[in-house]
Amino acid sequence: MQLPRRKHKPSQSVPEAGNLALLSNAIEAEAGGEGSRKALQLASALQTTLEIDKLIEIFSEEISSLIPHDSITFENQQQNIHVSFGEKAKHTCSYQLVVTAQTLGQLSFTRRHKFSEHETVLLESLICSLVYPLRNAIMYKHALTAALTDPLTGAHNRSALNLALIREIELARRHGTPLSLILLDIDKFKAINDTYGHLAGDFVLKTVADAVMECTRSSDMLFRAGGEEFVVLLSNTDKEGALLLAERIRRVIADNDYHYGDHRFNVTASLGVACFHKDDNSETLFEKADIALYTAKAEGRNCVRYAASV
Ligand code: GH3
Ligand code: MG
Ligand code: MG
Repeated sequence: MQLPRRKHKPSQSVPEAGNLALLSNAIEAEAGGEGSRKALQLASALQTTLEIDKLIEIFSEEISSLIPHDSITFENQQQNIHVSFGEKAKHTCSYQLVVTAQTLGQLSFTRRHKFSEHETVLLESLICSLVYPLRNAIMYKHALTAALTDPLTGAHNRSALNLALIREIELARRHGTPLSLILLDIDKFKAINDTYGHLAGDFVLKTVADAVMECTRSSDMLFRAGGEEFVVLLSNTDKEGALLLAERIRRVIADNDYHYGDHRFNVTASLGVACFHKDDNSETLFEKADIALYTAKAEGRNCVRYAASV
């Protein structure tokens, strides 16, 4: 393990992560008695969660009696992790956390008065007990994201859609807010594969997904339901709003120029729109959109249709 590197100041020697005896000695040396109890309490508390923000919050709470601070921030820009608690203050103490050549991110503390040299030595020891639980939490987040993401398009996958449908229907029912669903299917996609090859088909899937994400401005709402079928789930959106968005998506897909290798071709999609009604469950909502999509296909493709009921 590479030890935490403090920014702007020379690095201090720190005990090995996970070595409770050394950590308790460090706590005893810097903060007086009860070192081993506190070290054990900290190590145990950090084992209780795999959520990054909870872990940072627990760490902040557990060390606050030893190192009082106004704010704690953990960031990893590349992985889009931003966790922050408390009000930022003038003096900062920052560490770049690295474990076996893997950069976890930057951990920063702020407060109104300066951090003493004694405190920073102790802080480095305390951070050593955080790095492995934090590494595990980051790995867990990766695994969870991968399990719910379609690797080709970057959209959420079918499992994520099932979870989101249940969650959004529950919210719409509880708060009485509108919820709409757009089901999109690329027209004559088999012909694209057959004429230009499977890789060209994959390119079209990715381009269409990107175009929909551009239209919705939130990748959170796009799911690849399977094959060349996508779902856009629209919380707080009524029939009128959903139809407008569906038409915009249809037009963007149809107007786009598709180049793959030496080939240039057109792509269109058909879209079915359905809105949540209080008697709907995820199956009936999806079924309504499927009926609308079927109608769009039957009525010539490259169009948007709405279905009121199953
Ligand atoms: P329609 O207008 O009625 O929707 O016709 P279609 O050709 O789009 O529909 P059909 O269901 O006949 O064909 C879907 C094709 O999608 C067949 C399948 O091989 C292809 N497909 C499914 N998943 C993928 C994928 O991940 N990549 C590629 N390139 N093709 C895929
Ligand atoms: Mg299809
Ligand atoms: Mg199709």
